[in-house]
Amino acid sequence: MTDAGTAVDARYLEIAAREQAHMMPVFARYPVAFARGSGTRLWDTAGNEYLDFLGGLAVVSLGHAHPEVAAAIADQAATLLHVSNYFSNVVAGELAERIDDLLGGDGRVFLANSGAEANECAIKLARKHGQLHGGAERYHVLAAYRSFHGRTLMTLAATGQPEKHEAFQPLPPGFRHVSFADIDELAAAMDDRVCAVILEAVQGEGGVWPAPDGYLEAVRALCDEREVLLIMDEVQTGLGRTGKWFGFEHAGIRPDIVTLAKALGNGMPIGACWARADVAAAFVPGDHGSTFGGQPLASRAALTVLDVMAREGVVDRAVAAGARLGGLLAELPQVASVRGRGLLLGAELVEGIDARVVSARCLANGLVINAVTPTALRFAPPLLVSDAEIDAAVAILADVFVAVASEGVS
Ligand SMILES: *Cc1c(COP(=O)(O)O)cnc(C)c1O
Repeated sequence: MTDAGTAVDARYLEIAAREQAHMMPVFARYPVAFARGSGTRLWDTAGNEYLDFLGGLAVVSLGHAHPEVAAAIADQAATLLHVSNYFSNVVAGELAERIDDLLGGDGRVFLANSGAEANECAIKLARKHGQLHGGAERYHVLAAYRSFHGRTLMTLAATGQPEKHEAFQPLPPGFRHVSFADIDELAAAMDDRVCAVILEAVQGEGGVWPAPDGYLEAVRALCDEREVLLIMDEVQTGLGRTGKWFGFEHAGIRPDIVTLAKALGNGMPIGACWARADVAAAFVPGDHGSTFGGQPLASRAALTVLDVMAREGVVDRAVAAGARLGGLLAELPQVASVRGRGLLLGAELVEGIDARVVSARCLANGLVINAVTPTALRFAPPLLVSDAEIDAAVAILADVFVAVASEGVS
């Protein structure tokens, strides 16, 4: 592995200065600009090579520059990029059918451009359905603390991280939060104003916390009893990431609404909201829309992604590769515990080691990971990652732990 990041190159400095001068300061970035990718590998502007074990935040599940996805995008770009949603196009319906098939059929799909937009659709639909069936007050949504559902005002209100709300009050009303995994708290909060519950099968941004055994089953039963819709936000966990097509399948339940985004386009921006057909029937023409949603380019990319995922058996690969990565991480003395499912893993570090220092050092040593909390690392590599790449990544991490320990903790 090259000793990336030590010699900051002129090209990078120019890029960083331009971003700082012209882009809104909403991201604290690491001092690297990536120029090229292939599979699990990335190269920066100085030509240093990295193993990408973050996968663009669980987006690039088939790896960077996947040849079949790239060819489909290029072909579609040269054929038809976009028509307005006043007209049908030859790709969107086929993608919707494929998503519905994966989710067991008898549903309807809205195509959007991101995870937050998929959740906006889910929440608007749940409100309209709730008000049609339970009256004007039935618009409240229950969500979990530590959840993440997006950055728009509505999905920020759903996100269970009060510190992210503070600067943007007043947020849209009607959202309440309960402890994740506490079914009694959820039951107590579920009055007859509640139209839906929104949950993640594994809380990704909140620190890689899987729903404990039995929780989602109990939530499903409670929702059935009170006639409340269950929305599963599968934006991060969906499409093989956890070792099932969808994270909720680990609990054997069927949600009423499911949202998807990150891996759906393997990097092409796209989101989707699926709902049971009778729930989706609450929407009528004019209730929701998107200029770009369902356009041929993104839809064609997603259709190709789903084809390749099925053919390559990414779901089984996530199980096997996740077991290998999780097992190797658990053997490191600096790792206190490993959590997550499939290839969405979190490693809680032993006391005294700062995950942010470790992730920055890994980057300098050619491994891209993320400090999902100050004490935990997150791993979400492409699902086609090889065993040799897993072994190499863990070796870099092991070296970094030793180096950080010998320097003393910052
Ligand atoms: C990333 C994420 C979102 C937001 O997706 P964007 O495409 O950034 O809008 C929503 N929900 C979950 C669970 C996510 O991980």
